[in-house]
Amino acid sequence: MFSDLHLHTSFSDGTYTPEFLASEARRYELTAVALTDHDTVEGCPRMAAACGQNGVEFIPACEFTSESQGTELHLIGYFLDIDNAVLLQQTRRFQEVRQNRIIEMVGRLQELSVNITVDQVSALANCKSPGRPHIARVLIQNGVCRTLDEAFERFLKKGRPGWVPKFKIDAADAIALIHQSGGLASMAHPALVRRDELIPGLVAAGLDGIECYHTKHPPMTVEHYLAMADKHKLLVTGGSDCHGMNKGKPLIGSVKLPYFRVTEMKEHLPSDHPARQSVPNTL
Ligand code: AMP
Ligand code: ZN
Ligand code: FE
Ligand code: FE
Repeated sequence: MFSDLHLHTSFSDGTYTPEFLASEARRYELTAVALTDHDTVEGCPRMAAACGQNGVEFIPACEFTSESQGTELHLIGYFLDIDNAVLLQQTRRFQEVRQNRIIEMVGRLQELSVNITVDQVSALANCKSPGRPHIARVLIQNGVCRTLDEAFERFLKKGRPGWVPKFKIDAADAIALIHQSGGLASMAHPALVRRDELIPGLVAAGLDGIECYHTKHPPMTVEHYLAMADKHKLLVTGGSDCHGMNKGKPLIGSVKLPYFRVTEMKEHLPSDHPARQSVPNTL
């Protein structure tokens, strides 16, 4: 029994609908999946329904872009109450920041005479939580770039001419936001952050877990973070970070988190949390 707890849909910068993603989860025989769209939980109701139809256990989640001591780090909230008023108010704010950033970034590109408009990006993104991959896809459509990597390397990466810094919630505040929404906070892809010295501070702020298994974590890295989880008494999470067809080969199911890790997560929830009652529902 395996799970994939890091997946994106077209509600942020993934290309799959929740329904297709849930059918893929079944095809790969996943017992449980989490939807971790960037700064939004809007896809969760549809994903929950689709997972129900496919006999896959569903965990509502969200990947927050946060910052600690000047370093961007992604925190995933798992088992969130997706109707929580504070959560919805905050995600709306982050989405506004993303929408304004797209306008600014496209403006920068236009100043460089790059062929792109905000309307094109909005039409392609067709969601409230747009991101740089949407700009990259328009650049490919318009023949400016050939690949997503090229778009990031030439224009969109930090420090490149189309890049605009983004307001990010402080990591400790993101952990508090996740907790007040009934969730567990896990640090996403720590090897991409490469600032292990930040981890004790996050633990002090209430971090619950760490994403040991990830597409970009080779076996030695997994071992390293499993030891880190052990040392700091953190839950072990993991997932593929599948963005659908965004990055060539779809990644869903390629990272296999043993299901007992999901059980451990549920045992860590408050005793009155609704997810404590749920069991794997394989059809
Ligand atoms: P944003 O949320 O707008 O800051 O964009 C970040 C997203 O861009 C993340 O989901 C990354 O997976 C994606 N990303 C970052 N670098 C690249 C790249 N070189 N190629 C494709 N996607 C990337
Ligand atoms: Zn993404
Ligand atoms: Fe991330
Ligand atoms: Fe992600």
